[in-house]
Parts: sequence; C-alpha cells; structure tokens
Amino acid sequence: MRLTVLGCYAATPRTLTNPTSQVLQINNHMVLIDCGEGTQVELRRHKIKFSRINHIFISHLHGDHFFGLPGFISTMRLLGREKELHVYGPKGIKEAITLLLKLGDSWTNYPLLFHELSSKESELVFEDTKISVTTIPLDHRIYTNGFLFREKVGKRKLNIAATEEYGIDKAYYQNIKNGKDITLDNVEVIKNSELTFDPPKPKSYAFCSDTIYDESLASKIKDVDVLYHESTFLESEAELATKTKHATAMQAAKVAKAANVKTLVLGHYSTRYKSIELFKEEASTIFENVLLADDGKSFDF
Ligand SMILES: [Zn+2]
Repeated sequence: MRLTVLGCYAATPRTLTNPTSQVLQINNHMVLIDCGEGTQVELRRHKIKFSRINHIFISHLHGDHFFGLPGFISTMRLLGREKELHVYGPKGIKEAITLLLKLGDSWTNYPLLFHELSSKESELVFEDTKISVTTIPLDHRIYTNGFLFREKVGKRKLNIAATEEYGIDKAYYQNIKNGKDITLDNVEVIKNSELTFDPPKPKSYAFCSDTIYDESLASKIKDVDVLYHESTFLESEAELATKTKHATAMQAAKVAKAANVKTLVLGHYSTRYKSIELFKEEASTIFENVLLADDGKSFDF
C-alpha cells in the first residue's frame, strides 16, 4: 500500500503548498482522494498516469478539497480517455460538475459516473475482489465523509520448494493458490498448508478530513493500519478548531490512540505555523507513531 500526498495544506493554494489531494495505491487499485487545485500538476510532477485512476473519492465540497476536479475531468477528455470514471462525493457534486461542463460545451467522451452520498451512516460505496471502500461520516461545517479503504485477503502464496519436492505439475498451481489440497497418484493427499504460505495480511487506510475532534470516530476505524487525520491547528488554537469544526494535532493523536491504529499521518495544516514539525511534536506526546504528510511525500505501508 502506497500513499502519495499531492497536497495537504488547508484553505488556499500557495507558491509551495497545495490543498488536499492524495493518491492511494492499494491492491492494484490507484484511487484519488480529494482533488484540490493543483492536483493535475502534482500528478504530472510525480509521474502518476492519469489513466490509472478510475475512482475518485471526494470528502466534501469545500473548494480546497474539490476545485481541481472539473479540470481533471476535462483533461481526461483531452487525453482521449474511453474508460469509465467513477466519482464518489456529497450530493450536489454531479450538478456542480455537469453545469461547468455544460456551460463550456465540453461533455466528456467517456462515461463519467457519479455516486452521490447523503447518508449520515457509514455505507459501502465500492467493492470488488481486491478492495472495499466504506464512508466514515465526519462532523464538519458541511456534509463530509472520510473513507475507509480495506484490502481483501489475497490468495495463498505458493511454496515452490514444497510443490517441486512433491513433483506437483504446474497445472495444479492455481488450485493450490485457491486453497485446495492435492491428491498424488489418486492416493496420497497433500494438505494445502504444506504447499502454501499464508497470504499477506490485508492492509487498511482511513482518510479523515475535515472534521471536528470526535472521539467516537475511533470506533469506526478500530485497528486500521494507517489513519490520516486532519490537524489544521495546534492545541493553542483549540477553540478556533472547535469553532471552525477542525481538529488539533493532539486531538488527532487522541483518536489514533483510542482507535489503536498502527500509524497516524497528520495533514491539512493551517499555514499560520512556522514549521509542521510542531504538529508532530504535539501529537507525539499522546501517540507514538506519528508521520507528517507533506506535499510530494510518499509513504509505503
Ligand atoms: Zn472543509
């Protein structure tokens, strides 16, 4: 699982910082999470092929989380995209995007499919054999969801040394990977566990931005491998955080601790602070494994 942060600062694009956008590579999928201004430029900078993105998840309709989307959708047309593009986001997103396309007489020549969200309960929004994606309802100034991405358990891994030792024909490999036992010469049964290794443990990633501090969030993201939690402010601005329905680094750490996650990634920083290291310092007083998102940074989990 690889997370590439294209932008992770609050409010406005600036010379050296971008608003929220991330690319998550998970079990052969490459999904885009939020699409602030500058997303296309950053995708190009990091040599991420636009055509690999088939699913876009938008948390909410504040500009710093989706103003890059109409441009991205238009560029896909110019690049000759033919595949479906799926957009998951709050109710209203379809109207907003299609109005822009309509006024510019620039309809897509590929299927653009909107999956509008309005539930206040968590719901499964995408699932295939590789991953599942469920919403994480958040409490922000407007309707907002985080997203929980989970890998499905993969196939068992072949123990080549063992299959060769038993002289098993390669034609049986697929069955073995699917968990079947093998019968040799119609007599001897070789247990699957002797021929395979357990598949890698499936990974999970929870994206939670923007949100007020809400410790009940922890129950929805229990034991995930990686939690990205917004930390727009430091505790010194806790009052402002509550007023604007954002969180502080310490509050993000409290959620991470209560949810027993493995790694906390902080982001959505207000640009009022001199250094983002301050966010890590503050969160680390509560939770051990804290990483700082930054524009252009990739993490392998
Ligand atoms: Zn917001």
